[in-house]
Amino acid sequence: MAKYNLGFFGGFVLTLKQVLEPRVTTEYPKEKRPKPPRLHGRHVLNRYEDGMEKCIGCELCAAVCPADCIYVRGLDNPPDHPVSPGERYGYVYEINYLRCIHCDLCVEACPTEAITESKMFEFSFTSRADAVYTKRELLVDDDGRPQQLPWEDWREGDDEHTSGWMRATSPSGAKEYEGSVQWSAELGYGVRAPEGGQSDRRDDEATGNISIREVQRDKIPVRYGGRVR
Ligand code: SF4
Ligand code: SF4
Repeated sequence: MAKYNLGFFGGFVLTLKQVLEPRVTTEYPKEKRPKPPRLHGRHVLNRYEDGMEKCIGCELCAAVCPADCIYVRGLDNPPDHPVSPGERYGYVYEINYLRCIHCDLCVEACPTEAITESKMFEFSFTSRADAVYTKRELLVDDDGRPQQLPWEDWREGDDEHTSGWMRATSPSGAKEYEGSVQWSAELGYGVRAPEGGQSDRRDDEATGNISIREVQRDKIPVRYGGRVR
C-alpha cells in the first residue's frame, strides 16, 4: 500500500516539476512559428522581370498531378500583345484545393518555373466553387508577390521566397552544380540566390533559409539541445 501511495505522489512531483519548465508550445494560430523556405503552401503563378507570364500553357503540370486537380488550357499568344515569351500562354489555369495534396510534382514538372508554392497554407472555404483557384487568384501581383486574398491568413514572411524550392543544392546530386544558378529571374526579385547545400557556399540571408532549431533554441529545454532561462 505504502509503495502504491509513493507512486501516486510521485506522479504529482513529476507534474509540478514540469510546471517550472519553460513553455515549449506555441499558441497557434495567434502565434505562428517561422516556416522553412521550402514549405509547400498555396501555389503562385510567377512572372518574368519584365512582367510577362512564365506559364506557356504546356499542361505538363496537369499531366503529372497525381490528384488530377489542375486544369490548364493554352492559347496562341496574340502577336501584338504577347502574354508570355513562348508561342502560347496559359489561357485558363485552375487548381482545385479540395484535391491538392501539396506534393509539388507540378512544380517539379514545370519547364519554366511558372508554378511554385508560397509558404501560406492557412486558408479555408465555404463552398466547392471557392476552393477552385483560378489564374486571377494565382498570378503574382505587379510587385511579383502572391495576392493576399481576404480568406487567407498571411503572416510576415509567408510571401517571401515563394519559389524557394528552386534553389536546390545540386541537380542529380552532382556537387559541381551546387550553388550555380540554373533558373530565370522573377518580377520584383530578380535572380534568386542559390540555397546552400553541404558545402560552405551558402547565403542564408538571401535565400531565407532558416534553421528551426536555431529559431526555437531559447524555447526548448536543455535536454532537447536548447537553453533553459
Ligand atoms: S501540389 Fe501535387 S496535388 Fe497539388 S496541384 Fe501540384 S501536383 Fe497536383
Ligand atoms: S505552369 Fe508550367 S507546366 Fe503548367 S502549363 Fe504552365 S508552363 Fe506548363
